[in-house]
Amino acid sequence: MGYNRGALNMLSVAEARERILSHFQITATENVPLIACASRVLAVDISAEYDLPLFDNSAMDGFAVRSEDTSASSATLKVVADIPAGSTPKVTLKAGEAARIMTGAQLPNGANAVIPVEDTDFHNHKAGTIAPEKISFAKRLKTGENIRPRGMDIHAGEIVLNKGQTLKPQDLGLLAMLGFANVQVYKRPRVALLSSGDELLAVDAPLESGKIRDSNSYTLAASIESAGGEVVRLGVAKDTRESVEALFQKALSEDVDFILSSAGVSVGAFDYVKEVIESNGALNFWRVNMRPGKPLAFGEYLDKPFIGLPGNPVSAFVGFEVFVRPVLERLSGKLGSSRRRVKVRSEEEIESDGRESYLRVKLRDENGIQIAQMTGHQGSGNLLSLVQADALLIIPAGVKCVPAGQEVEALLL
Ligand code: AMP
Ligand code: MG
Repeated sequence: MGYNRGALNMLSVAEARERILSHFQITATENVPLIACASRVLAVDISAEYDLPLFDNSAMDGFAVRSEDTSASSATLKVVADIPAGSTPKVTLKAGEAARIMTGAQLPNGANAVIPVEDTDFHNHKAGTIAPEKISFAKRLKTGENIRPRGMDIHAGEIVLNKGQTLKPQDLGLLAMLGFANVQVYKRPRVALLSSGDELLAVDAPLESGKIRDSNSYTLAASIESAGGEVVRLGVAKDTRESVEALFQKALSEDVDFILSSAGVSVGAFDYVKEVIESNGALNFWRVNMRPGKPLAFGEYLDKPFIGLPGNPVSAFVGFEVFVRPVLERLSGKLGSSRRRVKVRSEEEIESDGRESYLRVKLRDENGIQIAQMTGHQGSGNLLSLVQADALLIIPAGVKCVPAGQEVEALLL
């Protein structure tokens, strides 16, 4: 029973991931201009150096008033100033006085409420109209009405963004409000990426008999970038020891955190990648008890960590999600994972071979329950069924059959 012995010797997915992760630590930090900080990971907690808003200001276009002057059923007030946004009010309102004020403009001293222009007899003015001498309205105002007081949103000293957060567009806006022109973020991990195989053609090369296009380098480069990494493209190694070694050497001359390859790590007669690692470094493992993606290698080329994904396009993708994305997340200092795991129910009965299996499924909501439906045949070369999937259903190791309707974990893509 060679197969079973093999399965017993094979590492579990969790064990393999731990072994890989234990070789990687968080990357260094750098100071980056705010404009370039989208999707970068914060390396420090950000605390506000001042209150926001920075000064009491009007929430409406209207007239700043003293609420005391509005206690009768109607009021007529003398307009003593005009305060556009961005200006410094020079008046202090006294009894019976108002000041025209624009949204966001600083409130004058003495004022404690704003009457919106729509609620006054000056409601059909146009842009450019000069302020009236008097203003009348029939409304009582509460103290503070239509005013955004200083510190309403954020107090000086308050922590507003946390170390390990991936910066979203709105986070950049907040950093700009708080005057951070440069931000301390983690360096992006750098990955040397290569494909291997004599059968591989460039995407724009003429088709040739027996050959296929190198699709993995596109899937994997985009995956690396989506995980916050930077790609150093090494190209395609031929199925010779010399060619594989030459690309690995090239990887060493780049300042990368690790080398990522696809294909050439199985038991084929021309699978040189594994051999080159064995003779120039150390092979930690090269098989994992999973499907797809069993031939997955980890080791070092000289001193550089190396992860060898399987060649089949779906296996390479799944291997990336299960082993490489977590590495990039650790290296990039990110808190938590960008891939969520959720509980779903399988629409159909699923047979499995006892390896930890990742099945391509589409999810649909039925009364709050997520139902998973397979997207097509699950061959590891069938990229279309992966393209159509929104999750990978995870059948745990040792499970041979999942009855229809049973709850299963899924990795959202
Ligand atoms: P291998 O691990 O070299 O035996 O490759 C396994 C399968 O993956 C073969 O069918 C290869 O042709 C295919 N394959 C390998 N590399 C790539 C690639 N970069 N793009 C698409 N398919 C590939
Ligand atoms: Mg090959």
